Amino acid sequence: MRRHYAIVPAAGSGSRFGSGTPKQYLDLLGRPLIHHTLKALVACPAVDRVWVVLSPEDNEWNRHDWSDLGPKLETLRCGGTTRADSVSNGLQAAAMVAADDDWILVHDAARPCISGAMLGALFAELADDPVGGILAVPVADTLKRADAEQRVAATEPRDGLWQAQTPQMFRYGLLREALEKCREVTDEAGAIEALGLKPKLVRADATNFKVTYPADLALAAMILRGRK
Ligand code: C5P
Repeated sequence: MRRHYAIVPAAGSGSRFGSGTPKQYLDLLGRPLIHHTLKALVACPAVDRVWVVLSPEDNEWNRHDWSDLGPKLETLRCGGTTRADSVSNGLQAAAMVAADDDWILVHDAARPCISGAMLGALFAELADDPVGGILAVPVADTLKRADAEQRVAATEPRDGLWQAQTPQMFRYGLLREALEKCREVTDEAGAIEALGLKPKLVRADATNFKVTYPADLALAAMILRGRK
């Protein structure tokens, strides 16, 4: 049986959110946003350990109480300049524990609405997969390309397009190799694709969105409250 480890990159500044506090620490139902994200991961019986990758300059983490998340959670203060750097540094630290064939789930700190059902679908669909894959949803809206004046320059065909989410789940050895060779990516699947491999798309739903703008926080609160 291979093990499953989660890496949660949480070293971003959340500049698009426009708040002084990094978005992972914004209040969501009385807890920092990232608390909900981590709670969903530690609650998953198949996940053996959860590493949260913080910026070395992070001075917010220690202001909060994480004790209810239990012993599966470990902090790594090795965040980098980009998300790919943070994940890569986390993978390096994980070398003490992870074997090449173990699964690594990389999950955004800013996706607090990940559910046990979505994690279950990921594990079930990828259990015997030679490459690994990601949660994603087919694009539902019509896509417009903007010009410099924010007018529609073109309508883009949406056939076959999916929006990538996280967790993104790959074997430890393969993911390390992929990120060592290619850092110019915005997700882990991009690095795996650069090796010529094809990650599987595992269908999730839109509730697993990334909190990016202020209005997203109220939406996340509604979703989490609705599940209680
Ligand atoms: O900025 P964005 O929303 O794309 O970030 C996605 C995830 O990557 C967030 O959880 C963020 O904290 C993390 N990140 C990181 N290190 C960086 C930039 C982003 O861990 N340098």
